[in-house]
Amino acid sequence: MVISVASGQGGTGKTLVATSLALSLSADSKVQLLDCDVEEPNDHVFLRPEIAGSKAVSILVPRVDEAKCTYCGKCAQVCAYHATAVLGNHVLTFPQLCHGCGACCYLCPEKAITEESRQIGVVEWGHSDALGFVQGRLAVGEAMAPPVIRKVKEYANKDDTVIIIDVPPGTSCPVVEAIKGSDLCLLVTEPTPFGLNDLALAVETVRKLGIACGVVLNRVGVGDNKVEEYCEQESIPILLTIPLDMEIARLYSRGIALVAGIPLSKSSFLQLFDKIAEIIDERSRSPER
Ligand code: SF4
Ligand code: SF4
Repeated sequence: MVISVASGQGGTGKTLVATSLALSLSADSKVQLLDCDVEEPNDHVFLRPEIAGSKAVSILVPRVDEAKCTYCGKCAQVCAYHATAVLGNHVLTFPQLCHGCGACCYLCPEKAITEESRQIGVVEWGHSDALGFVQGRLAVGEAMAPPVIRKVKEYANKDDTVIIIDVPPGTSCPVVEAIKGSDLCLLVTEPTPFGLNDLALAVETVRKLGIACGVVLNRVGVGDNKVEEYCEQESIPILLTIPLDMEIARLYSRGIALVAGIPLSKSSFLQLFDKIAEIIDERSRSPER
């Protein structure tokens, strides 16, 4: 079972939910947490995992042999990401914009382009007691998160394991890369106008991917009830509410997972998992799926 934990914006409590859900389940089930928030992975702060290994993540970027190049401009025309440009008798490449698709190399009429490997990040794996852990780290200054996320997901152990994916914030390509293939996406938000706006965008993305979703409403008591109204209108279940509580904020600021600091909260996360499992089960039996 693959459960992704996403939010339309950072700072809504996504990490709190992902780590506490994973820790709650790991006492009785095989669970793996994948931190795909590769620009700023911070699940490790709460889990303090033992890292057992790491591997570089690289993509292939073009290298132009100007001795063979006729400056025809084909490579710049085919690059959808503006990662090459031909200016007079110069070919410029911008490796940080390159997605490594290989189109320029394949289509260069003079075979003047070869590909070279370029490291953009690293994937690390290990465990925190019984909980399996994998995280990706995008190198400083790099923009290409999806290949690092793909690599993290390659380490998912799908045999009898609940996989929890901590998704990057937002609704862009890295988010899509992280949540695709999930059985359910939990959307963590807060009851404020910003929370509602970002939730609506996140719901749109998840629905386009055909993935079931449910909401975790964090910091209840801080704003209004517009998020609840929206969820009701859209038939999106609110699967867990977390109150606005100074103790929770204190634990978070000290890098302590919610279920570690308030053990009684474990039952709420186990109930959350039961609701998720029910939705996934119902959906798997639904003919409209
Ligand atoms: S497609 Fe090949 S020959 Fe044409 S400008 Fe690019 S590198 Fe040069
Ligand atoms: S490999 Fe793809 S993304 Fe990179 S420069 Fe060539 S065409 Fe553009």
